[in-house]
Formats: sequence, structure tokens, C-alpha cells
Amino acid sequence: MSKSILIIEDEISIAENLAYALGTDGFMPTHVSLGQQALSMLRQASITPALIVLDIGLPDINGFDVCRQLRQFSDTPVLFLTARNDEIDRIVGLEIGADDYVTKPFSPREVVARIRAILRRQQGNPQTNMGPAKRFELRQDEARILYYGHALNLTRYEYLLLKTLVERPGHLFSRAQLMEIVWTNAPETLERTVDAHIKSLRAKLRQTRLGSHDAADAQLTDSSDEGIQTHRGMGYSLSLA
Ligand code: CA
Repeated sequence: MSKSILIIEDEISIAENLAYALGTDGFMPTHVSLGQQALSMLRQASITPALIVLDIGLPDINGFDVCRQLRQFSDTPVLFLTARNDEIDRIVGLEIGADDYVTKPFSPREVVARIRAILRRQQGNPQTNMGPAKRFELRQDEARILYYGHALNLTRYEYLLLKTLVERPGHLFSRAQLMEIVWTNAPETLERTVDAHIKSLRAKLRQTRLGSHDAADAQLTDSSDEGIQTHRGMGYSLSLA
């Protein structure tokens, strides 16, 4: 049975584009323009979506309030749509229980990929949450990450950096965001610190994948990015493939 997705968005063209992309991808989209209307439908369970796409700038109540009220009676995953490209939105959004957020303008296909990633994560075993394409296995209790079944020998920052990427496959993190999430207590961090750690991470992943004991050797023989994509001038993401 196809999963239903509730779109709460007052801009009709955005909602229609997204509904179209979801429909062609096998989902069953429903669209509502007002926050209160959506909340009452959800409270009465007249609609039981697998996931909610929620615009922050709604005409009646804002998306943050919709999410706060929703969280009092439902754990349905929420993906925020925001027009404001600022950090506060992201942090507030994640703190009040959203699962991810997308900044407008966005590609509907990217949003569908994010939705798939959230639903996959939700289905995954919470103890050992397997990453995209089962390459990564995150064992939070042990502060350990397995790559193709092999435990990685990572420094604290390499671990936190990879964990951040693995937890949200397909999500594009800017260097500034990674610095804020990973290097929380290190005010001296520079953007190139992130680049340096990505480089050492890729080398360790490559080394593990190739079963080589020599990281330099692994670097010479193979230039694969190990699924950590560089978005020029923007940041990094873990590929969904
Ligand atoms: Ca809006």
C-alpha cells in the first residue's frame, strides 16, 4: 500500500509540484493550506499520514506551533519547508521535534529523496541503524561506526562528523553547520578543519573498504569519495545511493 504524505503549505504551486513528484514516486499526497485545519484532521485521525511536510510560514498559525501541538499527540515524522535560510530555523525546528528541513526554493525530487530517507530511518532498528545502501552501521552505545561490517578506528571529531552525515543521508550540511554540530566546544575551528577531517575520513573509509593497512597506499590507488559528496562552495552530504 502506498504511504500517504500530508503537505501543509499555503503556496498552491509549491504544494502541487511536490504532490506531483510524490505521486509519481508512489506516494499518496494530501494537501491542506491551513495549520489549524491540518491539526484537527490529524487529531480526529481522519487522516493518518506516514510523514508530514510542513511549511513554516502559514497564514493562520506558524509551522513551529503546528509541530509543537502535533508532538503532544503524535510522533509522525515532520519535514519543515522554510523560506528563511537562517540557522535559528534549523535549530528551533529540530528542537521541537522536526526530522529534517528544506529551504525554499527546493527541487521536489530532493524533497522526495529526503522523505524516503526519513521513512527508512524510522523503519530501521533504533539500536543499530543501518545507513544508506547498508554501507554504514551506527552503534551509538559504543560510539562506533562500522563500514561494510568493519569497525572504523576514528578520532572523536571524525566519529562525530561521520555520525552527523550518516544520520541524515542526502542532507547537505554547510561547513559552518558541521562546525557548529561537531566542534561545539572548539571556538577556534576553521572551515578548513572540516575539509581536513573529511579528507582523513575518506582515507580511513577507503582503507577499510580496500582492506589495506596503509592509508597512503589506499589513497594512491583509489580516489573514490566513499559516498561523502563535496558540494562545491556549499558543503558536504552523504550520498543516498
Ligand atoms: Ca507559506
